[in-house]
Amino acid sequence: MRPWRHHYGRMNKLEQLTFSNSFARRLDEHYFARLDPTPLAGSHLVAFNPQAAELIELDPDEAQRPEFLCWFGGEALHPEAEPVAMLYAGHQFGHYVPQLGDGRAILLGEVRNSRGERWELQLKGAGITPFSRRGDGRAVLRSTVREYLCSEAMHALGIPTTRALCMSGSEEEVYRERIEKGAMLLRMAPSHLRFGSFELFYYRNQFERLKPLADYLIEHHYPELLEQEERYLALFREVTRRTAELISQWQQVGFAHGVMNTDNMSILGLTLDYGPFGFLDDYDPGFICNHSDHGGRYAFDAQPQIGLWNLSCLGQALLPLFDGEPEEAAEKANAVLSEYKPALDRHYAEGMRAKLGLQQVAENDVMLLRDLLKLMQQSAVDYTRFFRALGGFDESPNATNDQLRDHFIDREAFDSWASRYAIRLGQEGVSAEERKAAMNRHNPKYILRNYLAQQAIDRAEAGDYSEIGKLHTILQRPFDEQPEHEAYAEPPPDWGKTLEISCSS
Ligand code: AMP
Ligand code: MG
Repeated sequence: MRPWRHHYGRMNKLEQLTFSNSFARRLDEHYFARLDPTPLAGSHLVAFNPQAAELIELDPDEAQRPEFLCWFGGEALHPEAEPVAMLYAGHQFGHYVPQLGDGRAILLGEVRNSRGERWELQLKGAGITPFSRRGDGRAVLRSTVREYLCSEAMHALGIPTTRALCMSGSEEEVYRERIEKGAMLLRMAPSHLRFGSFELFYYRNQFERLKPLADYLIEHHYPELLEQEERYLALFREVTRRTAELISQWQQVGFAHGVMNTDNMSILGLTLDYGPFGFLDDYDPGFICNHSDHGGRYAFDAQPQIGLWNLSCLGQALLPLFDGEPEEAAEKANAVLSEYKPALDRHYAEGMRAKLGLQQVAENDVMLLRDLLKLMQQSAVDYTRFFRALGGFDESPNATNDQLRDHFIDREAFDSWASRYAIRLGQEGVSAEERKAAMNRHNPKYILRNYLAQQAIDRAEAGDYSEIGKLHTILQRPFDEQPEHEAYAEPPPDWGKTLEISCSS
């Protein structure tokens, strides 16, 4: 689960970055609109992330140069940038919206590193685009800090996600529920294409535009599928598999995305578009992090099912590309969709077994987990803290495991679960130290709780960006004990439990 860190030998100056924009070159203006970013007044660098710079082989010292802020903060264009806003549609809260598109994000281009990886650089909050609808094209500092910190925290947790290179702030006023300051995020991903990128052409009945988009995607991002006979079906199967695994990872770590509309679903299976997301504090499966989601469509425990719903929208949009008569194509799509739940369940069971410190598979593991989660829900036990503490479980016959037991209201119920767990651990034949070390690699100590993000935001809004850097550093090592940062592993204080995160960003 631990992220594998790249170490590239080569490090480039800003001018040496070779930009291209294969998306804009390969496709035409039915898929995007060309335009330049609109700078923010009083732009300045808020945070820079050397780990993301490493991915594009940019020398981190380059962030000190004025050109860095200029080119990655929207003030000017890198000489080789080819900026475009991407067009897409999507199902929002279950309803089809025929045209969305990048209303405030501009794709500057992509950088190819010496390993042949492509990294798109996208500036979010870069001003009005032809797809802004009624929006102002801006992002506020608050939401930019949240996306910057969370995307990097997710990466460190081993969860596929877009990345963040840097963040710039400004003096420009942006109107939300209150007046806030405008900011921009330089986001990176191999591709920012979404399920909704395909839905747009399907619902417009422009089936002939689906194929070039799918071909572009496969050639650049799924080249292993080029050999397959029914490559578009294979693409759908691969996106389905990745989405199942992604959502399994969210469920394991206690992450709620908050706005799983199909325009926020990455075609590469990445966590994309951080808005009103939240990590579970107390284990509450019905947790709704998005204050505007009154019906709980995107509640934590609804995510696996919504993933399938979203994939069925994608499958529908790709139908014209599948071989055979319509009925046959639909049958093939349904067969792929039927693989989703088993894939997710398998991945989740495996991940949760690791969180419980179980290496072998036993028949009753599912019950053992289910009963634990039920007890945790009844007692509103902190999800992250409990699993981390479980690494210290003492399986010896007379152990009382008081520290774990004290999390629960019904302590006898915990005792009876604990005795089952002790028996199960006994079957593993692994030493306590070995098990704890393995569990600590699967049960993070540090997650981006809402209250931690809020503290960094409050300070940033007052002009002090130091807490962003500090949190970022801690969250880069979520599985390590960091005794000097014990406070960052604490559950939320009372004010931090009731933070309401709105959709406005
Ligand atoms: P989101 O819910 O943030 O994923 O955004 C949904 C759609 O609204 C996308 O097309 C966004 O580009 C667009 N959008 C969100 N906020 C703004 C804004 N402030 N200005 C223009 N478009 C926006
Ligand atoms: Mg979005």
